[in-house]
Amino acid sequence: MASSIKEIPLVIIGTGPAGYTASIYASRYKLQHILIGNTIGGQVSKAHIIENYPGFIQIKGFELSTKFKEHAEHFLPMSNSEFIFDTVISVEHKDNQFITKTQQGSVIKSKALIFTVGVKKRELGLVSEKKFLGKGVSHCVTCDGFFYRDKIVGIVGGGDSAATGALYLADISPKVYMFVRRDKMRAEPIWQEQIFKNPKIEVLFNTEVAEIYGDQKVQGVITKDGRKIELEGLFIEIGHYPDTSILKFDVEKDEHGYIKVKPDMSTSVPGFFAAGDITTANNKFHQIVVATGEGAVAANSAYMYVVRGG
Ligand code: NAP
Repeated sequence: MASSIKEIPLVIIGTGPAGYTASIYASRYKLQHILIGNTIGGQVSKAHIIENYPGFIQIKGFELSTKFKEHAEHFLPMSNSEFIFDTVISVEHKDNQFITKTQQGSVIKSKALIFTVGVKKRELGLVSEKKFLGKGVSHCVTCDGFFYRDKIVGIVGGGDSAATGALYLADISPKVYMFVRRDKMRAEPIWQEQIFKNPKIEVLFNTEVAEIYGDQKVQGVITKDGRKIELEGLFIEIGHYPDTSILKFDVEKDEHGYIKVKPDMSTSVPGFFAAGDITTANNKFHQIVVATGEGAVAANSAYMYVVRGG
């Protein structure tokens, strides 16, 4: 494993909307930085269709994240900055420096750091969910939906991810069950309207999946109230949780583990800024447009911290 140690004013971790935007702004401030990420766009790249990002009436998640990436890469040379496609394994804070270590052996010391790692997908926590993962169970409609074309499928959740996922599945499958645990959905009303109009989608309110059954592959689910529903694919889209386990120093968080930020995206640790879904700034309104805005603010604050001394 190759190992290299670099010293640079700013490191940006995460290649979702917040990270890319922070990089674009940092480049234009001529603030030398390294942008590190292991995806092209984070959660956004997996969104089937996005209709609420200004400038694009409708765009696929992967297409929008590719545009973000191209935009950030266009400006990187302007600040002598670089993008590293790698996974960060730890971030330490010692002697007023951040030390970022990656899976492929990079060690990067920086004066400031912008943390934009987003959130991770929640799981149902069923043993059968793990057992059938890749054999009928999936956590990504955009990635795996096509494998279940012409099959009866189900999707768990009532938020925008489940709603847009159900609409995509209805385009390619004869029948889509939506398992919503309460008597209402969280999804934007515009998506709900489309779902209720779609004859292929059956929304089962007040319904929770208790078990997923099958032999080698999924054959159906059993609900908590004992109903048996036959299907061949089950998608789990039940929201997200914050994961800050790579941070090896204390930073203030709320009771759910989201990083507390001030309006300038600074945190309880000087030089450490956070942006996007991982922070408390967005009122848990995890939207691309919100994350990009936070990324811009974080870059501006990091610039003032590095160049102007805070
Ligand atoms: P979300 O809004 O948190 O919704 C999660 C859904 O899963 C809720 O209906 C929730 O039910 C349900 N749920 C949670 N735990 C469950 C469990 N154990 N069993 C069954 N159901 C469970 O998550 P999301 O849909 O992934 O959206 C996250 C954010 O991304 C949102 O801000 C959303 O607007 C955004 N987003 C936007 C788009 C788009 O515009 N194209 C697409 C995807 C996501 P309760 O309501 O009962 O808690």
